[in-house]
Parts: sequence; C-alpha cells; structure tokens
Amino acid sequence: MTSLSNYIKFTLNIEADNLEFLDASLEKHRGRDAKVYHAVLHLDHCLRCGSDHIWHNGHSYSNVRYLALDASLPVFIRIAKERVVCQNCHRNSMAETDLVNKKRDPTGLLY
Ligand SMILES: [Zn+2]
Repeated sequence: MTSLSNYIKFTLNIEADNLEFLDASLEKHRGRDAKVYHAVLHLDHCLRCGSDHIWHNGHSYSNVRYLALDASLPVFIRIAKERVVCQNCHRNSMAETDLVNKKRDPTGLLY
C-alpha cells in the first residue's frame, strides 16, 4: 500500500486491508460537482477453495456513495473489484468488501 492509499483510508476512516486507493478527482454527478476516489479491491486467492493458484480475469466496477460531512459535495468511491479464475477448482471469485454489497444496495447508495 502506498502512503497516498493509507492517507485516504485514514481520512475516510476505512480499514479494509485489500482495498487500495489510487487517485482522487473532482467530477460531475447529475450536473453537480462530486468528489470521486478511485480504488482497487484486491483478491489474491480463490474464495471457494482458498487456493492461491489463480488467473486474474479483469475487474467489475462499483460506485459507492460515501457519507460526506459536507452535503454540498457528494463523495463516491469507484471500486474496481478484481475477478479471478481458480486453477485448482476452476470456479470464479470476485473481491468483496463491506463497502459494496454483492447485489444492488437496497438503500440506493449505489448508482
Ligand atoms: Zn478454487
């Protein structure tokens, strides 16, 4: 992990070890400015059998709205979740974090 990633985690109060922040930018969301943090969610083993003999198979992207103190500037975390194919059991896994539900978030925090 870079010091930038650690700094952003400290600022956002996020502890996920497998989440690495790469960058931050100001973007437009529904016509308004929004702060967007870009992160990668790493996966180094198969979630089915635990093997670390895996092939990486791209990413699946999630946009998570993060509660911000300043309501006039919404904060999002764009997470690239690593997908892997296991060489042992030949099944697919995708990196997981408490920040992102596997299915669509019923609270509407995802967009
Ligand atoms: Zn496996």
